Amino acid sequence: PFEVLVIGGGPAGASAAIYSARKGISTGIAAERFGGQVADTMGIENLISVPYTEGPKLVAAMEQHVNEYDVDIMNMQRAEELIPAKEKGGLHEVRLANGASLKSKTIVLSTGARWRQMGVPGEEEYRNKGVAYCPHCDGPLFKGKRVAVIGGGNSGVEAAIDLAGIVGHVTLIEFGDEMKADEVLQRKLRSLDNVKIITSGQTTEIVGENGKVSGLNYTDRKTGDEHHVELEGVFVQIGLVPNTEWLKGGPVELSQYGEIIVNDRNETSVPGIYAAGDVTTVPYKQIVISMGEGSKAALSAFDFIIRNSAE
Ligand code: FAD
Repeated sequence: PFEVLVIGGGPAGASAAIYSARKGISTGIAAERFGGQVADTMGIENLISVPYTEGPKLVAAMEQHVNEYDVDIMNMQRAEELIPAKEKGGLHEVRLANGASLKSKTIVLSTGARWRQMGVPGEEEYRNKGVAYCPHCDGPLFKGKRVAVIGGGNSGVEAAIDLAGIVGHVTLIEFGDEMKADEVLQRKLRSLDNVKIITSGQTTEIVGENGKVSGLNYTDRKTGDEHHVELEGVFVQIGLVPNTEWLKGGPVELSQYGEIIVNDRNETSVPGIYAAGDVTTVPYKQIVISMGEGSKAALSAFDFIIRNSAE
């Protein structure tokens, strides 16, 4: 059995594995795809001390760093079930899709999240070529340009406010008859003169030219009229979905959004089971934050181990 078993190989999982291996305790990391969301990212400009890198390069660097230590990396392994220890200090079990079962004194859950997609033509084709999901990451790439934000919930309206300070013009498109964001955010958004708000708008297609986004089409759900907006970027803000389907109905408490509830020591509701990064209730989902959270989770797991080993 492991002393620390990390599930998920994104920045949170890699960081947890390195911190725990550096304590000299037996560490394993099982991931469906090592690198996580970073593997799908183009330019990264906000990893402090690294002014510019690219997703695949950062994934390779993370893997190399993990390999500096005695960590058992089990890549392309999907966890399907978590069976908690029967008593405090006992072994937890994780069952994998390939039928294998892993046991460990402590577990760090870091299965991350995925952006909900609109599922319209052009969205996948122009991903990273004008279609973006993270305003903190990609906003500055659209300086002075025209963008749309899809979604009028808190994240969409916050993104639109944030982007309005950087880009030339923002069109916010909300599917429902009215935006769902908090009133204070809506008021702030309405006060900005380079923002247009469209409600009852259903985006139907992202269109492009020369391999880049050049506009989008939407239908006015009230009149049925089709419209075209010319722009250079589309930020899709219709939800970040935590990868916790496999934990539903299990012992680890989840929030109403399906995120693993953690405290400031990354403890979950089950003793000896920790969680870190985008899969948790931690606010702001970013690479640096996930790395910090992963290291915190590993340090908490180490603390648990030294307090629960009698010999
Ligand atoms: P993830 O990166 O989501 O990793 C989750 C890991 O868990 C993966 O290895 C996955 O395969 C694995 N996994 C999932 N389910 C299971 C399972 N059942 N069993 C086993 N393994 C499983 N952030 C920035 O700071 N700067 C940026 O510029 C930036 N750009 C981004 C661009 C894009 C297109 C996207 C999608 C995100 C971007 N982000 C950026 C956000 C950043 O990538 C995330 O905040 C970060 O990757 C979260 O790390 P994580 O380790 O918590 O989860």
